[in-house]
Amino acid sequence: MNKPAAIKPEDEPLGLYAKREPVFNRRIDGKFRRVKWAIMVMCLAIYWITPWIRWDRGPYAPDQAVLIDLAHRRFYMFSIEIWPQEFYFVAGLLIMAGIGLFLVTSAVGRAWCGYACPQTVWTDLFQHVDRFFDGDRNARFRLYKAPWGPAKIARRLAKWAVYLAISFATGGAWIFYFADAPTLHHEFWTGTAAPVAYGTVFVLTMTTFVLGGFMREQVCIYMCPWPRIQTAMLDEKSLIVTYKDWRGEPRGSVKKAEKNPGQFGDCIDCNQCVAVCPTGIDIRQGTQIGCITCALCIDACDRVMKETGRPRGLIDYATLEDAEREKAGQEPTRHLKLIWRPRTILYFCVWAGIGLALLFLLGTRIHTDLTVAKDRNPPYILMSDGSIRNAYTLRLRNMEGRPRQMEITIEGLPGAAMWTEDMAREDAARALTRAVPADETQSVRVYVVAPSDTASQDFTFKLQAAGNAREKDESEVQFDTPEGQ
Ligand code: SF4
Ligand code: SF4
Repeated sequence: MNKPAAIKPEDEPLGLYAKREPVFNRRIDGKFRRVKWAIMVMCLAIYWITPWIRWDRGPYAPDQAVLIDLAHRRFYMFSIEIWPQEFYFVAGLLIMAGIGLFLVTSAVGRAWCGYACPQTVWTDLFQHVDRFFDGDRNARFRLYKAPWGPAKIARRLAKWAVYLAISFATGGAWIFYFADAPTLHHEFWTGTAAPVAYGTVFVLTMTTFVLGGFMREQVCIYMCPWPRIQTAMLDEKSLIVTYKDWRGEPRGSVKKAEKNPGQFGDCIDCNQCVAVCPTGIDIRQGTQIGCITCALCIDACDRVMKETGRPRGLIDYATLEDAEREKAGQEPTRHLKLIWRPRTILYFCVWAGIGLALLFLLGTRIHTDLTVAKDRNPPYILMSDGSIRNAYTLRLRNMEGRPRQMEITIEGLPGAAMWTEDMAREDAARALTRAVPADETQSVRVYVVAPSDTASQDFTFKLQAAGNAREKDESEVQFDTPEGQ
């Protein structure tokens, strides 16, 4: 019997799990780094400050400008108040956010990933903490390789404590969007907040700590679906961070280039572009899913080009189409022209169209709503005088921040009258008035009685807010009689 051939190392199947290579990116200063700082500060400032902005809505509504009030099922955003049945506004905003991302991607590539995504912002913050405690790239690498001892443990603990503090201050601050921020802040620190507040803070702190502090670029490369969607959306006109290989290759050090004039490209193979990359990739190998287009490699390479007296832009934002043009010695397209092209204009029009439609709906919506549920069992009751009674539950919704008088009337159903549980039948009429508290829905049980010879038919309940002819709603319902059964 033949023996099976021995398996050589190169025949072994690739593992499904690749061990993470830690990234020790170097500090870099430059134009894009400063833009990143500015966007990070702006994003964090908006995130922290927003729940503390007050907004006067009168005595019957919360005075927090942006509030997701789960208990009362309301979403407040400055002067806008969204009720659960108006969730299409939130859906519209989410669709706008999605199309906005498509727009940004087709115009300026993965700018969202590189500058504004929370994962990028947190990773960037934690990498600065690393630098503060462990030093820049080489020092961090040496410490990583060093055996565990009291000094290394102390540094790690101090660093992780700062990670935790940042995670708590950033991830934990999310709870202030769900309750009155000053009250919750006081309750939180006096131990009187609801357990769910402490649980939420714990979960958000720990997820920020783990995702930003330890998983970092792996979230972008392996977990987040957005890079895959974006790669499918990029085309030859999308701006991406590009290494201009036709200009940089063949690579060679400054010395080699001086000794052999004309034989080397502009890349001096200093690896600075790799050293500053927060995801640890080499952009010279082409566009990769790990490139979040943060442009730090552009800053690094521009600095090298300046120091070696070569023109900037060996690594730069460019489109695939422009790469070909530049290779052929032609002028690249102006960036503004790239942004305003049919595809981005179409995305912009759809985005703006949805925005305008939402604004129109907001401007024309009324704050009065009526829904009616009919009693089905029994569908009618015969009264001792021969008349027929049907029962309904009316839900009167006052979506304004003040109490309002509302009139309910019956339209159709000749000879009918109505009364409510808290009225005597003798007071039955075709119109009733109710006081509906501010920002509330009031349930009213209404009995409608019609003469004995009435046939089954539809009629209409009408609701009209006092003093405003626009504020009305109506609902058509069935009136059942023995004749119709
Ligand atoms: S920083 Fe520029 S010069 Fe240095 S290796 Fe990268 S591409 Fe080449
Ligand atoms: S390759 Fe350049 S642009 Fe891409 S992630 Fe790395 S540093 Fe940022």
